Amino acid sequence: MTTIIVHGGAGWHRDNPRLPDAFAACEAAARTAQRLLLDGASSLDAVEHAVRVLEDAPVLNAGRGSYANTAGDVEMDALIMDGSTLDIGAVAAVQRVLHPISLARRVMTDTPHTLLVADGASRFADEIGFPRCDASELLAAAHARTAAPPADTVGALALDPDGNLAAASSTGGIPRKLPGRVGDSPLPGSGAYADNTTAAATATGDGEALMKLVISKHVCDAIAHGDATQPASEAAVTLLTDRLHAMGGLIALDPRGNIGIAFNAEAMPYAFAVDDAKITVSDAPPS
Ligand code: ASP
Repeated sequence: MTTIIVHGGAGWHRDNPRLPDAFAACEAAARTAQRLLLDGASSLDAVEHAVRVLEDAPVLNAGRGSYANTAGDVEMDALIMDGSTLDIGAVAAVQRVLHPISLARRVMTDTPHTLLVADGASRFADEIGFPRCDASELLAAAHARTAAPPADTVGALALDPDGNLAAASSTGGIPRKLPGRVGDSPLPGSGAYADNTTAAATATGDGEALMKLVISKHVCDAIAHGDATQPASEAAVTLLTDRLHAMGGLIALDPRGNIGIAFNAEAMPYAFAVDDAKITVSDAPPS
């Protein structure tokens, strides 16, 4: 069995005229990953390539379309995690790359480290010949956006036929953040988590709050303790609402392919596909 699920961020309003573009991006990302999984690719490849599609979509706040900080720079965060080994690669406050998720994967595979930040991440990118871009390529799309939602970070989870789970998240952070501000997205357990023996999850929303709850790991732990995936996802978002009065959402996936989708915002675009079935695209909680 294979499953892919992606999201385009919590915090969207239903009347946002860009919502159809976000749906299209989620559907394209799910389709890319579905094809890869059906061709025998790993869950890690599936989530990386799904997130690359989302990073390419100017409507979403990751890669192209990232928000600028107060200095006018684009600083991006990303994380990828392999549920079979618990290996993690992450970058934070990295500039001038179109695909932070692929740089995060190279941190995982090409260094003994987990998380590289700012100039160190840039230097690493140059050392391995990772493609660089101009800041203007990342920014142009965000400037063109109207009625931009406050949280449109992206994430993906996948299960491959070997039973391996993987998780990925990527973001430009929040609008008008201070230079050097890092949110939940590149922090293991907060922005994303994956463990074949429990579950995978990835979060979006108010990063300062999400990291206080280490929310992705929280969901995986609840599933490990016997909660079903959807109720575990809903309980984590209820905790975010009740304890921290914060906005957010998450997706989860367990090793049997059960998915969870929960958010306390008006809408969260997402798409998922099981095996070769038609892709489901929506922005409403599952019924
Ligand atoms: N969680 C992200 C951050 O705080 C924002 C988002 O989800 O859009 O950086």
